[in-house]
Amino acid sequence: MEAWEHSLKKCITSPEELAGLFHAPGENLAPVVGRYPMRITPYYLGLIREPGDPIWRQCVPDPAELHDFTQSPDPLDEERLSPVPGLIHRYPDRVVFLVSTACAVYCRFCMRKRGVGCQGMSPAPVDEAVAYIASKPQIRDVILSGGDPLLLSDDRLDQILTALRRIPHVEIIRIGTRAPVTLPERVTVKLARMLKRHQPLYVNTHFNHPSEITEQSARACARLADAGIQLGNQSVLLKGVNDEPQVMRELMQRLLAIRVRPYYIHQMDLVQGTAHFRTRVADGIRVTAALRGHTSGLAVPHYVIDLPGGKGKVEVASARFSPDGSRITVRNYLGEEIEYRET
Ligand SMILES: *Cc1c(COP(=O)(O)O)cnc(C)c1O
Ligand code: SF4
Repeated sequence: MEAWEHSLKKCITSPEELAGLFHAPGENLAPVVGRYPMRITPYYLGLIREPGDPIWRQCVPDPAELHDFTQSPDPLDEERLSPVPGLIHRYPDRVVFLVSTACAVYCRFCMRKRGVGCQGMSPAPVDEAVAYIASKPQIRDVILSGGDPLLLSDDRLDQILTALRRIPHVEIIRIGTRAPVTLPERVTVKLARMLKRHQPLYVNTHFNHPSEITEQSARACARLADAGIQLGNQSVLLKGVNDEPQVMRELMQRLLAIRVRPYYIHQMDLVQGTAHFRTRVADGIRVTAALRGHTSGLAVPHYVIDLPGGKGKVEVASARFSPDGSRITVRNYLGEEIEYRET
């Protein structure tokens, strides 16, 4: 067993273990965990300074998750856009391939909360997904996601990458993973060596707070960067985690210092069970306005909304607001005018 697999066995998964560690507030988290599983790696748990801090908020269940009835479990219509289970084909030239439904830490704000870590979602049947991609010459970009692709073994991941690399029209492969943030020991020299054989490969990771940038996570990123892999970062704007301009700026700058290029800041999707994390678009504009001009242009990602109904991602910078600010209108890549409802 590799060291990272051993770490996974030592994760905290029950409210009792958590309460024992932190003398946590007496709220009963069992129903929350019954609906949306909890898992926290020993490493990520060690980043918590006190209950309620930005690391805690990201990984410790909150009763509010069960009190959010306003939203859909799948606002982006991913299920409808699946030609094969576990494959999401929304844009003509690229697909998202859900290769795993497990993660090292189950983020409380996850946009695939409906199924990640649960029985309800299963990873794509690989042969079927690969056959679909092979049959569509317009697909030039494959994004491995999940769940976390790096929770697969090196061999399994190697098999999937090899199968994709055999398809001549697949130009680039991306891997979306939170392992450098939540389970940095997963990024072994052996893994980096294996990934290096599948270039051009891009890894997008998911740091949300400056305190996630540690010696260990920096080492994980350095291993990938040393293998010639371009590293990007996708953050989500989260209330009580990174919705302050100086926190976001520090995060972006520290990412560059560990050789990770900020790619996206996501407006929180309208996913059921996550309302307590959602900030207003106007707040997001205030946070991101503290970046451009105030720091290296390299530290300025695109602030985007992933539109409900699978209409695609749009830049908030191009959104139009009604005079009283209550209505937001955007135009997507197809030229469609869409009203975005924040609540
Ligand atoms: C975000 C996303 C992509 C990739 O979008 P980029 O802007 O190219 O990074 C592709 N497909 C789906 C379904 C997505 O949600
Ligand atoms: S790592 Fe990503 S997919 Fe997994 S729980 Fe967190 S946000 Fe969701």
